[in-house]
Amino acid sequence: MGLRPGGRDPVAQMTCRSGKRVAYLYRVDLAVPKLPMTIAKEAAPDKAMAARQTCPRCRRRYFACLPLRTLGSCLECHDGTPAEPSSYIAPPAKQLVAA
Ligand SMILES: [Zn+2]
Repeated sequence: MGLRPGGRDPVAQMTCRSGKRVAYLYRVDLAVPKLPMTIAKEAAPDKAMAARQTCPRCRRRYFACLPLRTLGSCLECHDGTPAEPSSYIAPPAKQLVAA
């Protein structure tokens, strides 16, 4: 089910007839999602996604893929349609310079 106990104790235990194998049962409503993929596993596909979601003109990264093939930028750069601020991540700040 894509869940893990999340530190909860089992609420029941099933033992097979030989008594050698035990299965612990947990409450589904208290379970939490399995841990996400490791950062490394996630990083590779993310690069490809980032390219399709980042506007080359304003460097904002949108949560949706951009029409880069047709417009070459996000809608706001293309025709001024303001982008919903919750639909993108602001571009990274200019590189910090040590004082
Ligand atoms: Zn843009």
